[in-house]
Amino acid sequence: MTQIPPRPATLVAAGLLVVAACSPASESSDVPPVRFEPGDYAGDAWLKGNTHTHTTNSDGDSPPEVVARWYRDHGYDFLVLSDHNVFTDPATLSHLTDSTFLLIAGEEVSSRFDGKPVHVNGLNIPGVIEAREAETLVATLQANVDAIREVEGVPHINHPNFRWAFGAEELAQVEGDRLLEIHNGEPNVHNHGGGGTPGMEEVWDILLTGGKRIYGIAVDDAHHFQGEFAPDRSNPGRAWVAVRAAAREPHAIMTALEAGHFYASTGVELSDVVVGERRLEVHIATRGDFRYTTVFVGAGGEVLSTSVANPAVYELTGDVGYVRARVTDSGGAVAWTQPVFVEAIPLEGS
Ligand SMILES: [Zn+2]
Ligand SMILES: [Zn+2]
Repeated sequence: MTQIPPRPATLVAAGLLVVAACSPASESSDVPPVRFEPGDYAGDAWLKGNTHTHTTNSDGDSPPEVVARWYRDHGYDFLVLSDHNVFTDPATLSHLTDSTFLLIAGEEVSSRFDGKPVHVNGLNIPGVIEAREAETLVATLQANVDAIREVEGVPHINHPNFRWAFGAEELAQVEGDRLLEIHNGEPNVHNHGGGGTPGMEEVWDILLTGGKRIYGIAVDDAHHFQGEFAPDRSNPGRAWVAVRAAAREPHAIMTALEAGHFYASTGVELSDVVVGERRLEVHIATRGDFRYTTVFVGAGGEVLSTSVANPAVYELTGDVGYVRARVTDSGGAVAWTQPVFVEAIPLEGS
């Protein structure tokens, strides 16, 4: 194949690299008329955090002190205590926080519709939020998302498959939400779906393909810090997010989450995610003799490519809508990067 020289490129304001897409040569060029949306990953360090955990203030088995201490002692950078319809005030635990461990205020705003649980976490909230009920399931979801936004908190919608409460059809109709639990460590929430009902990763792709900008988070939803740690119990340490934030403080972490500058994990750690014009690199922080497989997924949940390399690299060759990566290790643990959206390249001078 003939080597085609790089297309002329012009650096313009706001860091946009614009390639002329109107020249006659463009049809035969290797350079596709699309690119990844530019995005700034601020900060160097990944901050590990869990945004969903319970204490004895609701249905957890341990007081806030014990719960916060567990996460601090296990290397987490931040934690949200999210009791059902109770505000567990981080100020009462200030003796546990320092420059390495942050507590962010939260609540699991817990409503229901027609017997189905409708649970929405509110992150970085100023005080208790009263759960709202409404005429339909979608309206109930929306009302609680709105209640969290009204106090400038950040909502995330929890465990849709818990009691098979709702799915992609309902989630697609909700507005003002950016974060969805795609993995929840509680053993009864049916992350993987079944019996004809989609799992959460499939739901995520349905939403993304339909044009909803939604990012996937993984959480513990831990209740059990005492007694046996077992698969049928709701123990901590199973799922988390690693966030690349501009600063180690609540607002910066919230901003990074809502911009998709994080990955979700059940055990695989990443050292870097690099988004270029047409290139997505996923750098895996390997451990021991574990082996890794990375799958790049696009619109419709289509597998675009599979890599066993590190870094795993995806080269953009056309309009695939979005690209996200799922890295699985040889023990079954997973890391999910957030979708990077594909956009058409604006014509020069337009
Ligand atoms: Zn819940
Ligand atoms: Zn919960």
